[in-house]
Amino acid sequence: MKDNNLEILTPQGTEGGDKPQKMRMNKRASCTRCGKCCSEGSPSLLKEDAVLFMSGALSHENTYTIRDRERIRSHGDDSVYESFLEFIKIKAKDGTSVCMFYRDKEGCGIYENRPSQCRVYKCWAPENLMKGFEKGALKRRDIFGSVDVLLGVMDKHEEKCSYKKLSEAVEKLSEGGEEAVEEIMDMLQYDTYVRPFLLEKFNVPESALDLILGRPLSDTINEFGFKVVKEGDDYILLPIEPEIKGEEGK
Ligand code: SF4
Ligand code: SF4
Repeated sequence: MKDNNLEILTPQGTEGGDKPQKMRMNKRASCTRCGKCCSEGSPSLLKEDAVLFMSGALSHENTYTIRDRERIRSHGDDSVYESFLEFIKIKAKDGTSVCMFYRDKEGCGIYENRPSQCRVYKCWAPENLMKGFEKGALKRRDIFGSVDVLLGVMDKHEEKCSYKKLSEAVEKLSEGGEEAVEEIMDMLQYDTYVRPFLLEKFNVPESALDLILGRPLSDTINEFGFKVVKEGDDYILLPIEPEIKGEEGK
């Protein structure tokens, strides 16, 4: 259809007299199920996706929580973003940005039960994806709202080691406040020890920890410029040295 054609003038040559040569591109208007969007990131969930937990299509085995103000690295351009709210995502395949449900040649492994973001996403109009996300994002309370004991653990965990507290401590440290190291170590210690406590005390499966508490602080702290190294029974906090380009392969 003519309306779907996008004409771009190109500098290469002319056509029909003095007219510049034109390149004609068809603007995509429907999904070809190429799977590119499933490989470039996994979906974030909306409240209406809570039913997928009830039906068993989604579970603690394939989802995790991004906590408020957590820093997230984009696989696309490697930039780091700070989340402005808590939300739940589907896990990616290890070390990649590919949604764990994506199967080469077959496509989505849960197509009939895919989350709402996957249903509405249009790569030719990606701006629609985040509309209403702030209000509509699925949160841990939407899933565990009736389990008081877990809500108590999550609240205590936020109080002890929220990303807001971590950001403030990192800021203090960068301004020379050495006592902030102890604050950060306290947060790391709490986050590290509450996990096995949940497993032992409440019989929570290990695969549910990243949904209940978010990803381990000892990993996510990397995006704040630090790494945690284990030496014997001790954990040591070290700054991450910026990579010097051209050093690879030495
Ligand atoms: S929305 Fe776009 S990128 Fe995603 S499967 Fe469809 S055509 Fe491919
Ligand atoms: S749930 Fe299915 S449609 Fe959605 S990103 Fe994963 S593989 Fe793609």
